[in-house]
Amino acid sequence: MAKPVPVPTPETQFYWDRAKERELWLPKCGNCGRLHFSPRAFCPFCSSVDIGWIRSSGRGTVESFIINHTPGPGYAEQGPYAIAFVLLDEGIRLASNLLEVEQTPTAITIGMPVEVTFEERGEWTIPQFRPAGAAA
Ligand SMILES: [Zn+2]
Repeated sequence: MAKPVPVPTPETQFYWDRAKERELWLPKCGNCGRLHFSPRAFCPFCSSVDIGWIRSSGRGTVESFIINHTPGPGYAEQGPYAIAFVLLDEGIRLASNLLEVEQTPTAITIGMPVEVTFEERGEWTIPQFRPAGAAA
């Protein structure tokens, strides 16, 4: 069984199209100017339908995480894996796996700097995170 892939909606199509180009973008309200996530048809703060996008720095920190020992679809062969909340520098929180790091509570720490990376899943590209500077 393969890992899950996105099923884009009109509200998320832009996000997934940019992810295929290995870019992380965030919805931004054109009325109140606030960022939000996940993408939706109207602003969760002021209900405006004037939604634009900004490109994220892709940098953030691990705010919280668990090590999951009960594999979801497509994860059975890799053993326990981290599911983290990453707080982006832009103040937006994303759920993500953590790649390119040992999947243990000693290797992963709260506050650890991370950066976006992209995982290919068939024809899809999934924004994920890894320790900052892992590619250097
Ligand atoms: Zn708004």
